[in-house]
Amino acid sequence: MRVLVVFFSLFLCLFGCGQKQETSSWFADNGKIKVLSTTAMINDVVQRIGQDRVDSLSLIVGEIDPHSYEIVKGDDEKIVYAQIVIGNGLNLEHGASLRKLLKQHPHVVYLGDEIQKRVPERILKVGGEIDPHVWMDISLWVEGIDAIVFALAKTDPENAIFYRQNGDHLRREMLTVHLQLQEEMREIPDEKRFLVTSHDAFHYFVRAYLAQGEEWEKRCMAPEGLAPEGQLSSQDIKRVVGHLSRYKIGVVFPESNVNRDALKKVISCCTHDVRCSDQPLYGDAMGTEHYLEMIQHNAQVLREEWNK
Ligand SMILES: [Zn+2]
Repeated sequence: MRVLVVFFSLFLCLFGCGQKQETSSWFADNGKIKVLSTTAMINDVVQRIGQDRVDSLSLIVGEIDPHSYEIVKGDDEKIVYAQIVIGNGLNLEHGASLRKLLKQHPHVVYLGDEIQKRVPERILKVGGEIDPHVWMDISLWVEGIDAIVFALAKTDPENAIFYRQNGDHLRREMLTVHLQLQEEMREIPDEKRFLVTSHDAFHYFVRAYLAQGEEWEKRCMAPEGLAPEGQLSSQDIKRVVGHLSRYKIGVVFPESNVNRDALKKVISCCTHDVRCSDQPLYGDAMGTEHYLEMIQHNAQVLREEWNK
């Protein structure tokens, strides 16, 4: 037991120290552009484009829900110090204190809004509300690259070509992974490709990788809505149980940062055998070091579970 406590303390110390170091170096006056992104998925793309000429930092880290994120001590300093702030927009960040601070910053780019301007026909609505989870389709997330390149080049015109080239390179890499995933996922039998998750974060993923044509809507379902609020009505449960039964779905997928209670409740109400995947999916929390690994992780978990 004592060994466990020591190990846990060491882990906490290492984790805490690492986070502190990253933040303190970000505040160093080193001539690099200071970019603050709200989520890790945005931050990873900024890093790839800005490389050593940019100091990038993610505001919301780890398993924290970005939908309801409220600022904590030190966040206001980061936002004020950042030369560029990049948010997801499309109403992802709806915590009042964060919204207020973002509004006050002179140079905020909302990536989802920029993507919506470029390809409005590809933005989904769920129950009349815009679905903000645009990172779940790599080919849609690619549409945000130019907005980041533009923001960096405007702040640092001398390196505009560098940012443009990095953006072009990243776009090619992302689209290659996108096509690979499409091919791999469509090898899974049609009747297996029905995705039930904790909340409505996977509509773009399902449309891009699990469905063909307009039939994607029937392939995704979640007890919780666009933001995981943790409040389930009996109607919600009935809706998901009915869906599982209709399509003979045998496995549901928890998300790394969402409580599993809703899925457990649904499973307990089913009259046929349904299990919860041991491995969670990454929805709102990146969970991996890089963005592309996150989407690849999700695809791999689905393949493994559906092949069982
Ligand atoms: Zn979400």
